[in-house]
Amino acid sequence: MSQISEEVYICAAKNGQIWLKNGKLPVMSLSSLPYYSGIQRKIGQYEGKQVWWVTINDQDEANQLFSLRELLTESPDLFALAGKAIQLEFMLRDQPFCSRCGAPNDIDQVDHAMRCGNCHSLHYPRVSPCIIVAVRKKDQILLAQHPRHKNGMYTVIAGFVEPGETLEQCVAREVLEETGIRVTNVRYAGSQPWAFPSNLMMGFLADYESGEITPDYAELTDAAWFSPEGMPEVAPKGTIARELIEMTCGLIRG
Ligand SMILES: [Zn+2]
Repeated sequence: MSQISEEVYICAAKNGQIWLKNGKLPVMSLSSLPYYSGIQRKIGQYEGKQVWWVTINDQDEANQLFSLRELLTESPDLFALAGKAIQLEFMLRDQPFCSRCGAPNDIDQVDHAMRCGNCHSLHYPRVSPCIIVAVRKKDQILLAQHPRHKNGMYTVIAGFVEPGETLEQCVAREVLEETGIRVTNVRYAGSQPWAFPSNLMMGFLADYESGEITPDYAELTDAAWFSPEGMPEVAPKGTIARELIEMTCGLIRG
């Protein structure tokens, strides 16, 4: 347990959002929390301070809740811990009943998981694996524009892994389905937990093999090759999408 007066990072999550003070995760003692929180759990450590997930029940505090995206400019470790709190809060809302017997679940006393009160099955929080890939063709990078991004920004191709496929197969399938391009030389580049609400982004680099761009307009509003000198607005700093874009531009520049 935390000392009652010890200052800790507070990750107060509710409905997929996080409580911020002046754009930062609050650092305070658990005893000075302005919320009644039914759940208080240590979920990690950051720069010598404990990091705690707490729940919020007080409706009045809703106006202090923000998107996790506000923390993209923080360190990746702190961003991931805030995302962990959001994923655990999502687990509470998304897995209230046992998927085996239908009885109510409650949060387990030991694990970050849900426990059935009837058959005692343990249900871990769902994490959905997604690939995200930057494709290079000589001195250009493949970028796509999605209708869900209201500011018109472009980003790399991403998609959910299907049962029975390897990550490399998923990369090839998603790029082919969304853009008509075949890729080769698929290699792993890094990962990022993405709590919107419960994805794990697994990042890859790949090279163009063949094909002409034919965007899947059910998914995209555009897809095109861009050179590093003529880039559109792209995914923000702090995202693995941006990191993959910068890695590819770095490779192009040599
Ligand atoms: Zn059960």
